[in-house]
Amino acid sequence: MPNNVPDKITPLRPKRPCPECGKPSERAFYPFCSKRCKEIDLNRWFSGAYVIPGRPTEDGDDEPPSE
Ligand SMILES: [Zn+2]
Repeated sequence: MPNNVPDKITPLRPKRPCPECGKPSERAFYPFCSKRCKEIDLNRWFSGAYVIPGRPTEDGDDEPPSE
């Protein structure tokens, strides 16, 4: 095996546009272009996680288990 050939070559990835605004992404905030866009996406994620559509409210008036 040749020793002079580096076996770990990290190719440059093509720059992806920011999913939020379409600007070129920054490495620090990848895949976003800025902290702001990253937070926008995070907030959307969290707000979506809290809203579960179609879920019945458990107030105690649901049907009792039949035994
Ligand atoms: Zn952006």
